[in-house]
Amino acid sequence: MKDYKYIMKFLAFLSHLLDYIYYRKCYICSEKCLDISLCEYCSDKIFSNLSFLKSNKFGLEIYSGAIYETELLKIIRALKYHKKAEFEKILADIIIKTVKNFDIKLDNFIICPVPIHQNRMKKRKYNHMELVANSVGKALNLEVKNDILKRLKDTEPLYKLSIPERKKAIDGAFEVSKEIKGGKILLLDDIITSGTTVKELSKIMLKKGAEKIVIISATRAKSFI
Ligand SMILES: [Zn+2]
Repeated sequence: MKDYKYIMKFLAFLSHLLDYIYYRKCYICSEKCLDISLCEYCSDKIFSNLSFLKSNKFGLEIYSGAIYETELLKIIRALKYHKKAEFEKILADIIIKTVKNFDIKLDNFIICPVPIHQNRMKKRKYNHMELVANSVGKALNLEVKNDILKRLKDTEPLYKLSIPERKKAIDGAFEVSKEIKGGKILLLDDIITSGTTVKELSKIMLKKGAEKIVIISATRAKSFI
């Protein structure tokens, strides 16, 4: 009888161990989930709260899928700073839904993700926006070019800086390293806070002869109108 009790205890332990190995935990609510670390409930919450925003700030066509807050704030931080590369799919899906929502015409567009500096690439092992760009490219059947835009300066995150500091930090921060004359560019970013980065990138691409630029960010700050 005693042996039977031990066996049952051992089996219960084994079952927990298998659960631990085969199930993932939701990054947001810790519930069990299967494919990626986001449960159905939290995923539904994100996708039912998309707000699809459009603005023409700086004379640019800028679309976003959602406001940068709550679940998405956690997801983007995890993707950027905690090696949760799998969350690129969530940003890619938001961007694809944004294209469909506004029926944005993207025939012959080339996708360029906002680049990161090589120091950060070494630290993070990937540019999360390249992963997002590849997924969006596959879904929309568009070419992705990760080597057109280069980040030359390893700047501090811009949201931490004042407006004059931001201008100084962004000046000369990027380079267009391939021929883009007459090109149509779809520029992708994760968050637009002040718009300084996408404005600068658009400026240098237009200077190099880009014909048209469309900007889509998965999220934007509430203050960005
Ligand atoms: Zn969850």
